[in-house]
Amino acid sequence: MIPARPLPRHQAPQQPAPRWQQLWRDAVRDPAELLSLLGLEDLAARISPAAVAQFPLRVPRGFVARMRHGDASDALLRQVLPLDDEERIVPGFGLDAVGDGAARAGSGVIRKYHGRALLVATGSCAINCRYCFRRHFPYADETAARGQWSEALAIIAADDSIDEVILSGGDPLSLADGKLAELTDALARIPHIRRLRIHTRLPVVLPERVDDGLVGWLRGLPWPVTVVIHANHANEFDADVDAALMRLRDAGCLLLNQAVLLKGVNDSVDALAALCERGHHAGVLPYYLHQLDRVSGAAHFEVEDADALALHRDLAARLSGYLVPKLVREVAGDPGKRPLA
Ligand SMILES: *Cc1c(COP(=O)(O)O)cnc(C)c1O
Ligand code: SF4
Repeated sequence: MIPARPLPRHQAPQQPAPRWQQLWRDAVRDPAELLSLLGLEDLAARISPAAVAQFPLRVPRGFVARMRHGDASDALLRQVLPLDDEERIVPGFGLDAVGDGAARAGSGVIRKYHGRALLVATGSCAINCRYCFRRHFPYADETAARGQWSEALAIIAADDSIDEVILSGGDPLSLADGKLAELTDALARIPHIRRLRIHTRLPVVLPERVDDGLVGWLRGLPWPVTVVIHANHANEFDADVDAALMRLRDAGCLLLNQAVLLKGVNDSVDALAALCERGHHAGVLPYYLHQLDRVSGAAHFEVEDADALALHRDLAARLSGYLVPKLVREVAGDPGKRPLA
């Protein structure tokens, strides 16, 4: 055996990065690699270099493993593949589809609705979803997204009509446990906050994120915590996701799901019913079914309002009332999400 050499004093032994951070870094970023993993090399001609340059491909390997091999129309693949469809310029699809530009102050706090303040806690996500407003959001202008929270905290502290803070992004759970604790320690000193909400896709796309450290942080929070996950298709759930969601429930979190209605992904009553039932199986109730935000590059995902309403009607005719999400659209200037039905 080779005797261990003592470390020089200035080199404190480094904690290895948590496993989820390693998996995060190991995400697939090369469209050619993704296609080859799935046996879909023929699709290479449909990949748009311009779309990749504007908003890179990024998808955790565990999420890729849930895609069907050899299926170009797989519902999970469609959500992340930068296709040439994105190059189409479609009137009405722009860079700030939901009026965030007008509602934010550069601080990272977005105040649109009574009682709630949304904190853009980071610009990072583990996955890049092609339909997302995030592809155009100017995170670099938001101090909170750059980890400078003092201005955002001051805005929230100064307004006692805010009783719920929503951690959003990006994906707030992409922050390390220590950063999350720093943020919630500061929020805990604001007496008018009564509820914390976390909007995150990580328990679904990188379930390893829900590790002991995260659960420990959640258990120590002084407010009831609602976690709104984001799954668009039943196939996004697997045993690892179920286990991650169970850990969140054990930590006392209420779990809701929001989905986006996406052509070619979940625009059938079968797909939507399966999503709602599969979520419930994992302890998650449906919350919102969103009509697409009209961001440029995402027009090929749009479902007409008349079709959305018909799908929602059929869904309500099929499922228990509590399994039917509210069909909504975000309209700039409205006092809340606007119901379609
Ligand atoms: C969607 C949203 C919320 C939350 O709205 P709920 O209807 O309570 O889920 C809060 N603030 C902003 C800026 C939002 O976009
Ligand atoms: S914010 Fe949500 S939908 Fe948008 S890219 Fe990140 S994980 Fe995907």
